[in-house]
Amino acid sequence: MRIWAKLMLVLAVLVALPAAAAPKRIALTFDDVPRNRGAFLTPDQRTDRLIAGLRMAGVPQVAFFVNPGFLLNEDGKGGERRIAAYVAAGHVIGNHSWNHPHLNAMSAEDYLANIDKADAWLRQQPGFRPWFRFPFLDEGGADKAKRDAVRAGLAARGYRNGYVTAEASDWNMESLTIAAKRAGKTIDMDALKALYVESHVLAADFYDDLAIGTWGRSPIHVMLLHETDLAAMYIPDLVAALKADGWEIVSADAAFADPISKLFPDTPHSGGTLTEAAAWEKGLPLPRWYERNDIPLANRLFAERVLHETVLAE
Ligand SMILES: [Zn+2]
Repeated sequence: MRIWAKLMLVLAVLVALPAAAAPKRIALTFDDVPRNRGAFLTPDQRTDRLIAGLRMAGVPQVAFFVNPGFLLNEDGKGGERRIAAYVAAGHVIGNHSWNHPHLNAMSAEDYLANIDKADAWLRQQPGFRPWFRFPFLDEGGADKAKRDAVRAGLAARGYRNGYVTAEASDWNMESLTIAAKRAGKTIDMDALKALYVESHVLAADFYDDLAIGTWGRSPIHVMLLHETDLAAMYIPDLVAALKADGWEIVSADAAFADPISKLFPDTPHSGGTLTEAAAWEKGLPLPRWYERNDIPLANRLFAERVLHETVLAE
């Protein structure tokens, strides 16, 4: 090779390196704590496995979004110990409302009172962060007056939006697993793990492409998961797969310090992921929605791959 060709090659590699080496960054968050019992573990086993899995995977700090009202449920008994264990392991807790209402089902005033009730309990706990995660990611739908009243109410209380940038409807996979177990069906556990891991890695990449299209850069992402048995069992595999795909797992504190945390997109329907809302506001073309969040499609994938059932497409 001629010397100039060699030089050009070295130059090309040097120019390409920074872009190739820039890591995609993501933090993990777990909602509905203390969540209902799953198909495989007791609530205590779930917490112990989740903490051990996060430690084993080298995840620095995740956020758990708590519904203190769930402590009164049958499955929530002993939840105080489990929440304290998460915090003792270095993780933080945020507000997910008292008992998970839909904003479109109540007034802004009642909704803020529900948040305050949760806040009164949460503020007594170590590891508390003033972040509010909207249940169902429902930020008021088409009712902009209600949306703005809640946004103002949160700001007045010193709260920030505990938004989500990536998700794969893990709650649905958990409930399909519970239903299959109850029905006595054979669950292909390797296939279940593979589907859980793959669906979330694809979601992270889908939403990162959407974010880059919207903001011209890759923000620090926030992945929505739930405090499920599937998370407790498969977190080390999910983290390994994300890392193999070029992701760096960062703390929830780092993620919610990204400049996108200051954004409040104005869209005809308020809710869902921040990435989708910002893409909508900017007028990005469809799809702005990760396809596996389409529940009939997710159900079909689960039936075919995990239960090995034949499903006819509609
Ligand atoms: Zn929730």
